Amino acid sequence: MFKDATIHEVNQALKEAQVAFLSFKNFSGKKKAEFLRAIADEIEALDQQLVSTAMRETHLPEARIINERGRTTGHCRMFADLVENGSWVEARVDTAIPDRAPAPKPDIRKMLVPIGPVVVFGAANFPLAYSTAGGDTASALAAGCPVIVKAHPAHAETSELIAGAIYKAIEKTGMPQGVFQHVHGASFEVGQALVKHSFTKAVGFTGSLAGGKALFDLANQRSEPIPVFAEMSSINPVILLPETLHRDAEKTAVSLAGSITLGVGQFCTNPGLIIAVEGDGLNRFIRALSNEFEKGMPGTMLHQGIADNYSKKLTQTLAQKGVKVEGQSSAEGNSSQGRPHVASVTGEEFMKNPTLAEEVFGPFSLIVRCKNNDELHAVVNRTHGQLTATIIAEEAELAKYSSLINTLVEKVGRLVVNGVPTGVEVCPSMQHGGPYPATTDSRFSAVGTDAIKRFARPVSFQNFPESLLPEELKTANPLGIWRMFNSEFRK
Ligand code: NAP
Repeated sequence: MFKDATIHEVNQALKEAQVAFLSFKNFSGKKKAEFLRAIADEIEALDQQLVSTAMRETHLPEARIINERGRTTGHCRMFADLVENGSWVEARVDTAIPDRAPAPKPDIRKMLVPIGPVVVFGAANFPLAYSTAGGDTASALAAGCPVIVKAHPAHAETSELIAGAIYKAIEKTGMPQGVFQHVHGASFEVGQALVKHSFTKAVGFTGSLAGGKALFDLANQRSEPIPVFAEMSSINPVILLPETLHRDAEKTAVSLAGSITLGVGQFCTNPGLIIAVEGDGLNRFIRALSNEFEKGMPGTMLHQGIADNYSKKLTQTLAQKGVKVEGQSSAEGNSSQGRPHVASVTGEEFMKNPTLAEEVFGPFSLIVRCKNNDELHAVVNRTHGQLTATIIAEEAELAKYSSLINTLVEKVGRLVVNGVPTGVEVCPSMQHGGPYPATTDSRFSAVGTDAIKRFARPVSFQNFPESLLPEELKTANPLGIWRMFNSEFRK
């Protein structure tokens, strides 16, 4: 329906982004905050048109779209508050000590500055919160970086509506035109040309491991390599410790079934792997989980490609040696739908077969039945980097598993106790990231205020005349921000 951008249009967009960057990077936090708040207001003004378009394109229910819209406007306003406050630049001031022996100490001051134009790939599974005005876009704009969004073809109309809202906000708040641009591309060429362009300085991506890794490799092959913040593949292991499992098998099964099938399993934090030790507790848990899955209905997936991929990966996983189907939705569904499935395998087979540790994106989870605690630990060790891991255990039992916790901390970005990994709170302490292949850079978060740090870099100013320093670094602290001043954290 929408025309793919031509290479000429991609070049033109990057040129405009670079021109915009030269002024936008110096805009005050207050001005950027006005812009971000105007984006939120304009998105809300789209009202029912946005909701019905997104529902039609993604097959997601109204409540989910309304919730996601709230999250999107919420993070725009959260970043507005952050940059208006100004302390996010992590200013450090170390004043000179001219008479220090044996050599004088120079005056050095450091802060974060925007990195440059950012290319954002809209995510299929979050048509609002991780697409055109999603967390990547909002955090990059907050940092002072112009953004070019490549719309996800599965919800191109929704993306176009949001882009229109952002263009209105640009006009209302007097932003430079090239500060936000929106292109379509159903072919890989458009995305690849955006990543390769010399004016592009960073990339935000959410999608498949194949796509994220391809774009990461492309960015590293440039004559000037750039960072790619790609969120790709995570099966979010859930570890059920034996004593708690024995007590709460049925309750745990109900809560996990809800998390695995939520949104037809199309969440990056979907619990795709359940690890536990053999025994009566695990048998009862599997029976209860199977019952829940039989009651669950197949749901239409975000786009046909995702439905086809789910069906292919599910068939492949179920065909592996030792894998046993434990439960499935009693309704078969059609080829656009994801049919909930749960299967099991022994710890020994899991460890022999790397295919079983791969993401099956959809309403599926694999239970790994371990012989004993040592095997449970070995299975956890065999898993890849993850966004999250969850442990279901009471405090007293958990205290006996410190080495397991240590192993998990190495593997994940977020460790959950007695909960489910789906439902990512947007707040400063949230870490939404994790070691590869969950993301390409485990040092950063894609959710929460720290997401802004992906699109900023530190610069030191040495022996700078006071009058020429950025406001954030002037001795008198005219912006009143929190700073590390001669090793003391203060305003
Ligand atoms: P995708 O196929 O990775 O596509 C995401 C975006 O990246 C699209 O705009 C796509 O462009 C672009 N792209 C992908 N590979 C590219 C390449 N080699 N060069 C240039 N651009 C490229 O993801 P999807 O369509 O959202 O879903 C497909 C699969 O991704 C799912 O079945 C699932 O396995 C996985 N997924 C995982 C997560 C997660 O958070 N773990 C989230 C969403 C999806 P085109 O539109 O032109 O193809």
